[in-house]
Amino acid sequence: MFYVVSPAHHTCFGYLVRRLAFCTLISKTKQLPPALLIVLSRLNKRYTATKTTFGRDSIDLELHIDDTPVDGFLRGVSDEIDALEKNIFGFVLNDPSQSQAQDQKYLAGFYGRLIAQDVLASNVTKFSETVESHNVFSLLSTVLGGGEWLEKLFLLRRLTESGFSYELQQCPHVKLKDASPTLQNAACQIQAEQYNGFFESIWPRSTFIRERRQGYCVDFVSSQR
Ligand SMILES: [Zn+2]
Repeated sequence: MFYVVSPAHHTCFGYLVRRLAFCTLISKTKQLPPALLIVLSRLNKRYTATKTTFGRDSIDLELHIDDTPVDGFLRGVSDEIDALEKNIFGFVLNDPSQSQAQDQKYLAGFYGRLIAQDVLASNVTKFSETVESHNVFSLLSTVLGGGEWLEKLFLLRRLTESGFSYELQQCPHVKLKDASPTLQNAACQIQAEQYNGFFESIWPRSTFIRERRQGYCVDFVSSQR
């Protein structure tokens, strides 16, 4: 059976594989339990066999599709990665020492910068000397948000030449509704560090702030130029 694979599907798959890459990065710095390593290794073998990538969208989705319709396939991958992330974050952050959370935040910032550098190095994105605010938001939406096909992660609230703000529709602290408040907060902060690292590299001299509201978070990104 043949299913149509659109650019939106590719964007979404690239985003999911990038989230898997972050789990892999954690596994290189922290001894994970065998059960989690087995799942991670299985997903990596299955979805990143052809490429190890952070920012590029050249991951060949067609290679991975079986006879499942592509929408269902991507939802399945998304569910698997959601579960894996939750278990890995839960394990890593279960350590009561504060340094553990600090390590993860550092790693998240590093990951955000890696993705940004990969995007900048790819031919897909050509940033001129003057990076424009809407381009930065658009990159965030596709590279770290997976576009709008699977779920719209960002609700843009304000966009000017010097910056933008958006509401997170699926902030990790809300998405992990069954998790402990500690894990919810940590997951929210880890994502914020990823974004911070990403903006830092993509849009030099920009600042990033995440604010917690009742039931959701809002991010503010502005350029100092
Ligand atoms: Zn949050």
